[in-house]
Amino acid sequence: MSGFRSVEAVFFDIGGPLYDDENFVRAVLSAIDDLRAERDLPPASRARFREIYDETRARQHGSLRGALAAEFLGDTGHRKLLHERTGPYWTHPEGTLHSDVLPCLRELHGRVRTGVLANQEATVLEPLRRDGVAPYVDVWAVSGIVGVEKPDPQLFAWALREAGAAAGNAVHVGNRLDTDVRPARALGLGTIWVLRGEAPPEPTQQQLAEPDAAVRDLSTLPDLLFRLPAPGAAAGTAASRPEGGPL
Ligand SMILES: [Mg+2]
Repeated sequence: MSGFRSVEAVFFDIGGPLYDDENFVRAVLSAIDDLRAERDLPPASRARFREIYDETRARQHGSLRGALAAEFLGDTGHRKLLHERTGPYWTHPEGTLHSDVLPCLRELHGRVRTGVLANQEATVLEPLRRDGVAPYVDVWAVSGIVGVEKPDPQLFAWALREAGAAAGNAVHVGNRLDTDVRPARALGLGTIWVLRGEAPPEPTQQQLAEPDAAVRDLSTLPDLLFRLPAPGAAAGTAASRPEGGPL
């Protein structure tokens, strides 16, 4: 017993870990402005948007779309409408793949099965192919393809089945506590929290104790992946959490 998790599969959230979350910000703001124009309202205040966005990032729970619908469309109930209208704008333009993604995937290639596990439109396959990520992806757990969204455990279970791995031999890499770390951990996967995009800029110690490890980027991930505590070890405690890079 090495005390480390034996890792056979790793799943990556897309927005945050792979692509810049500002792609979603641009899309949702475009949809909000369209919906406001249809109601003869001026474009949304960017300053107020950032306040709500940062509040949601700091809290790590609660629906961002719901809060935006309430603030800018006057009704939380317009959350679904906002989601639908965001979809067509939600693209990942060239140059928005984080520069540490391909080096990380190349290092992991052949050592573990790799998947994406994300709430994204099915069209996300296009940028992943264009940017050279697709050849490294064995499992495509994309909500727009599978029909289930995180944090639903079904999407994680689907990814595990496709990878042929038990939860105890898998790790999820995501940038949110509510839709990545908590549901993955509840199923028994190891968890690495990537602190960029929708993650809080200054996470609390309590938040940092939730995943097995937290990193600012993917540069240390290939080594870190094989130094996570074994399932059943006191994961999430400061003593057992490997150094995940400077925080
Ligand atoms: Mg994300």
